[in-house]
Amino acid sequence: MAPARVEPSIETRLFINGKFQPSKSGKTFNLTNPTTREVIAEIHEADEEDTNAAVAAAKAAFPTWRDLEPCERGVYLAKFSKLIRDSIDELAYLEAISTGKPISAFVDGNTAASNFQHFAEAGYQIQGSSSLNTRNHLNITVKQPFGVVACIIPWNAPCIFFSLKVAPALAAGNTVVLKSSEKAPLTSIYLAKLAAEAGFPPGVLNVITGFGRPCGSTLSSHMDVRCLSFTGSPVAGQQIQAAAAASNMKNVILELGGKSPAIIFEDADLESAATMTQNSIQYLSGQMCMANSRIYVHESVADRFLALFKEKFGAARLGDPLDKTTTQGPQVDEVQYNRIKSYLEIGQRDGTMTLGGDAQDGFYIKPTVFENVPEDSRIIKEEVFGPVVVINTFKTESEVISKANDTEFGLYAAVFTKNIDRAIRVSKLLEAGTVAINCTSPTQAKELPFGGFKGSGVGREGYGISLENYVETKTILIRVSPE
Ligand code: NAD
Repeated sequence: MAPARVEPSIETRLFINGKFQPSKSGKTFNLTNPTTREVIAEIHEADEEDTNAAVAAAKAAFPTWRDLEPCERGVYLAKFSKLIRDSIDELAYLEAISTGKPISAFVDGNTAASNFQHFAEAGYQIQGSSSLNTRNHLNITVKQPFGVVACIIPWNAPCIFFSLKVAPALAAGNTVVLKSSEKAPLTSIYLAKLAAEAGFPPGVLNVITGFGRPCGSTLSSHMDVRCLSFTGSPVAGQQIQAAAAASNMKNVILELGGKSPAIIFEDADLESAATMTQNSIQYLSGQMCMANSRIYVHESVADRFLALFKEKFGAARLGDPLDKTTTQGPQVDEVQYNRIKSYLEIGQRDGTMTLGGDAQDGFYIKPTVFENVPEDSRIIKEEVFGPVVVINTFKTESEVISKANDTEFGLYAAVFTKNIDRAIRVSKLLEAGTVAINCTSPTQAKELPFGGFKGSGVGREGYGISLENYVETKTILIRVSPE
């Protein structure tokens, strides 16, 4: 069968200096629909030369953009937000055909529009401080943009990460080069089209697609990039941080992976805990950084919880992500599918698989449960990034806290109990950037910081904090001559 190509109106080129252009080398790579496994587009690949051109465009655009007032920059951001909100269906479609995300689960367009709307009006929050505490001085601090900010995003929620990084970076007066994931370039390119329509001056926002190497690595070692905001895997995060240190000590924000625990105490509302924890690991086919991929349930309620959990988890509707009744799509590609299968083998070797397994139909993995897995098994220690959960039991509070914390990750943790003292005691001891009580991921608060303890990252993102990520503090000392 001939490949079902995306209509020619779908843009696949690089967006540099306000214009869509082919890669300088003419190189493209194929994008495959994970549901049909057909090639759907040929994407222009940014190599080092294209990436350097995007940084140069952003550098040239910086002084004029920096000198606008926040409300003037906000006009572009607000227009961009409206255009995104009017394009939800197109974005949902592009994400479904490129990553397999069900349109029923596509909240990303609205979230992206809200993020741009928020930061359109937030620029005046950037404030310095002042002091008369030094004799014969009035001293002040001011917060200034870095210049060129690079944003590198993953494939699992590209519109959300695009907006979480680009909106505050632009609002603070920086110019941006965004590198989308090679697995999910279509929505970022579509957002670039909307940015062009919103009328951003050329070079203020550049959107390129390429691989980790050479495109991402060129950004992380670029001498003209002064700040880099990354969401993705711990391995790439380490490489980026090393390249940043080895080049120009650029500021780095890293949002990395997770192996998030959910703890179910014996007094928890088991029905509600089962509903929420299965949603957390099933949502986006388990391809979510904060998914509760480890569940610890008190041994006295384990049978009841497991029965409820498996009934709900096993009811996921696997199918075509474009079908509105589908709740679970395929894994994003063959690489990810095979990776998950290798963890299924580890789980079967080390523990007992009591639900699910390979669907043996395209890149689909059934909602899968492992029990009785030793705590040192790789399936407990490593991020699987699939609809695969390990459910183990515990006897005491101290035992479960130590198991939950016995990981290099620290992104998110959840506690289910009706005992308020225990809820707070345990939350305080869990080593995670977010702790949820009687709820779990993807629950988040937009206005509060999100990010990881330990190997899950460096820095935080959120409405209250993201502007700070994209400004430097300068102290200005003003000597006042005494009379
Ligand atoms: P990935 O690290 O493979 O890729 C992410 C991005 O980094 C892509 O654009 C890729 O091209 C680029 N990249 C890869 N190697 C690079 C390098 N050496 N230098 C510069 N750029 C490089 O991750 P992924 O597979 O796209 O996403 C899944 C991972 O992202 C998981 O580990 C998940 O937990 C994590 N994630 C974290 C969060 C969070 O907020 N903490 C959110 C979503 C996903």
